[in-house]
Amino acid sequence: MKVKVDKEKCVGCGACVVTCPEIFELKDGKAEVKEKETDKECAKDAGGACPVNAISIEE
Ligand code: SF4
Repeated sequence: MKVKVDKEKCVGCGACVVTCPEIFELKDGKAEVKEKETDKECAKDAGGACPVNAISIEE
C-alpha cells in the first residue's frame, strides 16, 4: 500500500509516530512518511489514530 500525509492538515500531534514508528516520524512539527510503499499493517492503524484524517492509505 501507499502511505501519504497531507501536511496542510497535519497538526503534529505525534499519534501516527506512536502507533507506527516504522513508517512515520515527526520533522519540524509535521509527520513525515519514512516508507511510502509498505505492507506494514500499523500504517492503517495510524490512519485511524490521526485526529484530523491527514493520513491516506492506498491499497
Ligand atoms: Fe499529523 Fe495525523 Fe500524524 Fe498527528 S497523527 S502527527 S495530525 S499525521
